[in-house]
Amino acid sequence: MRMTNQREIILEELRGTTSHPTADELYLMVKKRLPRISLATVYRNLEQMADLGIIQKIDTAGSQKRFDGNPELHYHIRCVRCGKVEDLSLEPVSSLERLKDAGEFAEYRIIGYRLDFVGICPECQAKEKDH
Ligand SMILES: [Zn+2]
Ligand SMILES: [Zn+2]
Repeated sequence: MRMTNQREIILEELRGTTSHPTADELYLMVKKRLPRISLATVYRNLEQMADLGIIQKIDTAGSQKRFDGNPELHYHIRCVRCGKVEDLSLEPVSSLERLKDAGEFAEYRIIGYRLDFVGICPECQAKEKDH
């Protein structure tokens, strides 16, 4: 049996999904391959990989942190009803990228920005019509 380390398996599972899972969700996925892994281990590896820029951490106020296996800049859209997060096929707005690089804002050293779209997903729209 080839020895694969836990982090590689966590990364494989995360890259294999587009659902932007929470640590809990990813834990359940990884557990199928590594029955003895703990949630704390999954969580720690996710945080470390996010710090290294291998993956992205999606922090949204009021909801659980989600993780994204795609480290490239892209925008997300979140459903305010069911909380799911999907990728938005919109090119990053280059004027915002320039502002970030120029660091034109007061005394701050700009390290990034957040641009999140929120809406109601097709499934939740359909549910609302049923009522
Ligand atoms: Zn929804
Ligand atoms: Zn994404």
